[in-house]
Amino acid sequence: MNEYYLIFLVIIAWIIFRLFFWQRKNYGYKCPHCHTEFQPTSWLAYLGPHIIFRRYVKCPQCQKLGWASVIHKQAS
Ligand SMILES: [Zn+2]
Repeated sequence: MNEYYLIFLVIIAWIIFRLFFWQRKNYGYKCPHCHTEFQPTSWLAYLGPHIIFRRYVKCPQCQKLGWASVIHKQAS
């Protein structure tokens, strides 16, 4: 086992972990059906299909799947 390879994997995992929390803190999604703003509730949302600024997720309000647009949350 190449230990440099392992270190590389740890660094990549850390970057993904940090990006996840950063995105969760700063961005939300807006339902295309009922226009509710929401946060994805699980890691699965991040594994789903997505293109830049849009993600295919299920709305917790109306339970419909759709291409939710990514919105930048207001700094509180
Ligand atoms: Zn909805």
